[in-house]
Amino acid sequence: MRTTCPYCGVGCQVEPEIQGGRILRVLAPDIPPNHGALCVKGRFGLDFPFSGKRLLYPMVREDRRQAFRRVSWNEALDYTASKLLAVLKKRGPEAIAVFPSAKTTNEEVYLTQKLARALLSTNHVDHCSRLCHSSSTVALSRSLGGASMTNPIEDIWKTDLFLVVGSNTTETHPVIGAMIKKRVRQGAGLIVVDPRYTGMAEAATLWLRIRPGTDLFLLNAMARYILEEGLWDQGYVEERTEGFAEWQASLEPYTLEEAERITGVEKEKIALAARLYATTKRAGAYWAMGVTQHTKGTATAQALVNLALLTGKVGKEGAGLNPLRGQNNVQGAGDMGALPDVLPGYLKVSDQAARKRFEALWGVELNPKPGLRMTEVFERIPEVEAIYLIGEDPVTSEPYQDHLKAKLEALPFLVVQDILENETTSFAHVVLPAASFLEKDGTFTNTDRRVQRIRKLLDPPGEARPDWWIVQELGKRLAQALGRPWALYPGPEAIWEEVRRAIPEMMGGITYRRLESEGVRWPCPHEDHPGEAVLFRERFNTPSGKARFFPVHFTPPAETPSEEYPFTLSTGRVLFHWHGGTLSRNSQLKEAYPELKVEVNPKDAQKLGIGDGEIIQVVSRRGRIRARAWVTDRTPEGVVYAPFHFAEAPANRLTTDALDPFSRIPEYKVAAVRLEKLD
Ligand code: SF4
Repeated sequence: MRTTCPYCGVGCQVEPEIQGGRILRVLAPDIPPNHGALCVKGRFGLDFPFSGKRLLYPMVREDRRQAFRRVSWNEALDYTASKLLAVLKKRGPEAIAVFPSAKTTNEEVYLTQKLARALLSTNHVDHCSRLCHSSSTVALSRSLGGASMTNPIEDIWKTDLFLVVGSNTTETHPVIGAMIKKRVRQGAGLIVVDPRYTGMAEAATLWLRIRPGTDLFLLNAMARYILEEGLWDQGYVEERTEGFAEWQASLEPYTLEEAERITGVEKEKIALAARLYATTKRAGAYWAMGVTQHTKGTATAQALVNLALLTGKVGKEGAGLNPLRGQNNVQGAGDMGALPDVLPGYLKVSDQAARKRFEALWGVELNPKPGLRMTEVFERIPEVEAIYLIGEDPVTSEPYQDHLKAKLEALPFLVVQDILENETTSFAHVVLPAASFLEKDGTFTNTDRRVQRIRKLLDPPGEARPDWWIVQELGKRLAQALGRPWALYPGPEAIWEEVRRAIPEMMGGITYRRLESEGVRWPCPHEDHPGEAVLFRERFNTPSGKARFFPVHFTPPAETPSEEYPFTLSTGRVLFHWHGGTLSRNSQLKEAYPELKVEVNPKDAQKLGIGDGEIIQVVSRRGRIRARAWVTDRTPEGVVYAPFHFAEAPANRLTTDALDPFSRIPEYKVAAVRLEKLD
């Protein structure tokens, strides 16, 4: 039976063949978005539901010094409800945070944020997009009035030039990476902006090897050059944008000469990239964490938006602004309102009309004050007294791990709901075992806004239950105690029907029946609507209908190399693993890539006497880890690259918790470190 890959945002359709408690093989049907293609994760990494580390029973402990006790579902849910209600009564909604998961379904995220808002009255609701594309969300929302890919994946076949900035696409969105490479073999151009020699850089027709954290300067310099050379789309700017004059004036410092000095890229190459992007009609911009995970992540995403508007690239086929979303349902989690400032459909919690819509639907009065973002919630512990965390492992994925662990130690009440044991479960008071993607029904929304079904192929093991069931049962107890309404649903389709009613302009036309054959993209306001492929063809989703330029300026990273810490650490992912590794490292992919390898440039390795494969220590101001050195010129001199999937050698023990001021995303891409040989 067909379902959706649970790893990256490409949302590949898969057909796992299961027999005798294991997956025999995984096939892929010839339908969008992947048309039969799969990467190694989809092909060989779907067996984590059979891991021996599955959480099988609800567990409770009153105190972290105690061992967990296995309890019944009734006892676990009664206890959780009573603790949350006690915090609510004593400290109010400001003391409670609820984190839905981008790994769970749309229906589950919708229900979780509903529980937070309608029952606990808190807007401290957030999810892992805070750590990946929150900066893109801020930039796209304020400029265009919408935060998603503007163009569909299949537009790759209509694109004549790709501008790929800070995206290791071949490893993190492999099927999209393969499509782009194929289109390049057909004759399209590929400009790659990246410090590392990634698979995309290898395929590039023009590779700009910038210094880490200098993308913004490069993008502003490209815009200035395009203006100087008269290569911009004046008609588009006049007709469809506002704020141009002020933004144009802000570009004064961004000369090619200065850009060469700051970024390390020859000015002729920057000029060529600018000329190619401006003069190719069907040129699409794609980006990922290399842009967003900086203290100036929002500003850098904004610089890309400004560049696309200047050259008239938004609202057209084969072009657009395309942030590649990370987790399987991170687009859906945002759509369903798993954010502190918006309800489902990106309707602002501070907007009275938006609140009224949901108050009528849910039968409660809603809190108008935007909540704290995930990174801020952790900082506010123990003022925040209770966290209900679903499907995340912040101990592995948040920056400056030791600091976060100290915060979690001080948290009076933590509920962890997950399918597998991870680093964060050891800090929990209550552990609720959830069903995996193979064990439940629902929908995920992929990176290009395509809502797709997942289907139940197996029963959950032990007493594990689907997340929607757990949230619903907890909500039932909270609602009874608070005297508030709380609808009970027979299954995910009934929850989806409420989503359709809640945000009809976005999801009204998407039914489970339509999703039987293949996914449907939002916005899809009615059942005869095919789903919108290219956004903003006629107008932007702003009050004026025009897109807005915002001036943004370059600032150095929060931490730069010093005598004591002479290298720049950049973190990221590898093809074989996914995020904190909870899923992929409990699959057979573990054998293919068993341990952390840290990339070190050969010149640096030679200076320090480090051999390829040698175990070294990587040390920052915040901690140290042991790792195997991979001596390779994929990484430039002075830069060290470490994937963050390995809990036993956590790269995030080293990273800084410096945050972008607008999105509050951490600066995972730049930290100062030194390398030490072991005695
Ligand atoms: Fe799964 Fe992404 Fe690989 Fe497709 S590209 S198989 S969605 S991990």
